[in-house]
Parts: sequence; C-alpha cells; structure tokens
Amino acid sequence: MLLTFHVEQSSWQAGVPSDLWTQVKVFHRLRVFHVKHLAFPNAHLLDFRYEGFVARIIAIANQKGGVGKTTTAVNLSACLAAAGQPTLLVDCDSQANTTAAIGFAKDPSRRTLYHSLILSEPFDRIIQKSQVEGLEVIPADKNLAGAAVELVAAEEREYRLRGALKALEGKYSFIILDCPPALDLLTLNALVAAGSVLVPIQCEYLALEGVSELLDTLMRIRRTLNPNLEIEGILLTMYDDRTTLSRQVANDLRTFFGHQVFKSIIPRNVRLAEAPSFGKPIILYDQQSKGAEGYTHLAKEVIANGKERSGTGTRSAYSGA
Ligand code: ATP
Ligand code: MG
Repeated sequence: MLLTFHVEQSSWQAGVPSDLWTQVKVFHRLRVFHVKHLAFPNAHLLDFRYEGFVARIIAIANQKGGVGKTTTAVNLSACLAAAGQPTLLVDCDSQANTTAAIGFAKDPSRRTLYHSLILSEPFDRIIQKSQVEGLEVIPADKNLAGAAVELVAAEEREYRLRGALKALEGKYSFIILDCPPALDLLTLNALVAAGSVLVPIQCEYLALEGVSELLDTLMRIRRTLNPNLEIEGILLTMYDDRTTLSRQVANDLRTFFGHQVFKSIIPRNVRLAEAPSFGKPIILYDQQSKGAEGYTHLAKEVIANGKERSGTGTRSAYSGA
C-alpha cells in the first residue's frame, strides 16, 4: 500500500503561527503515521509527501513436506512483483530450494538469513536483487539449519525475524516467507513475524494429514506470541481435474474450510516442476502455462484480500482462536 499525503497551505486555517508544527495522523491497518510539517508563512503551496509501503507479511507454511510451499512462495512473489507490488521473498528453509528456484547458484560466501538472525548483520549486505523487477530476496543455505539450533538458547528467540524485518518498514508492499517442512524455531519465527499465513495443501490422499496440528499451532501462536496472525487462505495445489481423487479432495477441503479456501487453484503442471531447474519463476519460464495462469490469479486474489481487509475490516481467519 502506497501512502501519499499532500498538504496545501491554502486549506489550513488563517493565522496559524509560522513556527507551528502541524501534525497529520494517518491510521492504516492499526499503524499510526505521525507526519510533521513546518508551516512556512510565505510559501504558496506546501507539498508534503510521505511515501512508504505498509508490508503485508505472509508466511507460506505447512509442516507436511512437498506440498508446494516453495513453488508457491517463489511464484506468488514473482507474480506480486510483476503486478507492480515491491516484494521481498525470504527463504527460511535450510534446504534453500527457494534460493535455487529464483536463480541463485550455491555460493558459500553469500550472506543469508542466518547472518541476520544469528549475527545481526544489516540487510543491505544480505538482500539480493532477483531477475524479476521489483522482487528482492533474502537467501538461505544449509547453515540456516544451525540457526534453528543456535536460537534455542537465544533471548527472545521467537521474535528474531520480526525484529529484523522492522528495519525494512516502508520498503516493500509484500514480504513472503517460505517455511521449512517442520514446526521448528524458524517456522515459529516466520509465524510470529507474519500478519497472515497461507497454507498450501496438495490435492491428494491424506491431504489433511498434519493440518489439524498446524491449525493448533496457529491457534497457540495467536493466544501467545502473535495475536494478530490471520489465515491468508488455504491454497489447493497440484490439482488434477482428470482425477476423481483431486476433485473429491478439493470438495472436501472447501466443505471443511469454507471461504478460507482461495478461489484460485494451482493445477498440477509440468512447467511448474521444470522451472526451478532453470532458476526461473514460472512467469519467466513459460508465461502461457496453466501454472503461470494459476499463480497470476492467486496474486490478484491476495492483493484483493488486502484491500478487503483494510476497507471493510478483517476476514477473521481462525475463529476458534
Ligand atoms: P518442502 O516441504 O520439502 O519444502 P515444498 O512444500 O516446498 O517442499 P515444493 O518444493 O514446492 O514443495 O514442491 C515439491 C515438488 O513438487 C517439487 O519438485 C515441485 O517442483 C513440484 N511441484 C510443486 N507444485 C507443483 C505443481 N503445481 N505441478 C507440478 N509439480 C509441482
Ligand atoms: Mg520448500
């Protein structure tokens, strides 16, 4: 969300003392921006401009492995950036699949999320530009596995990522966190830093395996570490409309989760599986594919969700919490 304020002197009341600081308070998604401006007596027009983004931080999480978390993180991020939304993609998984899929070859000298979480290095030495305009990346590598262990004894260990991301306020409209397939300290850090969680679920047998554990964890986090955490949505992935099983699982999930399931469905699509080995998001690898269509649609839905929330109030995610 881009915030731009213009203040014209002519719209102010006459007789305002020249040395008076005027304040404009803007309330946006529970944040308050204090904008101060000095009134110059002879200025014909005072044009004050504050430009900054209020980032929506979305964790992509499901402790079940191989359900499409990384594919979603990479391609949703790329589609958001392509839609003109400055986006940061954070690889929170020591498998570093996101880092590879977005086009970074292995490089032991590259700084990663580990350097931020454990060594408190500033982000300007860690964040990398990607090949998609408007998309930047905080990479991972296998050392991040050490962070999950080293954090155990650290103070405020669940709040490290949230604290670090504060330094980036105003820079991005979306921050997408790709979580590992475990409810470990890295996932916990992501869920504490996030405003919402997107849960990819593969349309296959045992699709719901582990989901109730994840929902219990989300509920506990809402009660304790992050009361503002919402569910961005449940995303059906690897959907194959030729199989009865896929259709049945999709129907069951919609019955179970209702409006929390995204309208967008990600089809099983070989181009999505190929793209990471070329280090490209799907919109650069095959813009015409069904996979690109699915993620472009999802990005539009995510952007629209945000508008709905900041307008008519929040779509409460998990009413049981
Ligand atoms: P992990 O839990 O190990 O982090 P993940 O949840 O991040 O896994 P992905 O790595 O995104 O899952 O996907 C698992 C595999 O399935 C990958 O080989 C990926 O290319 C493939 N895949 C993901 N989504 C699709 C899709 N819609 N169509 C075809 N293949 C897909
Ligand atoms: Mg992954």
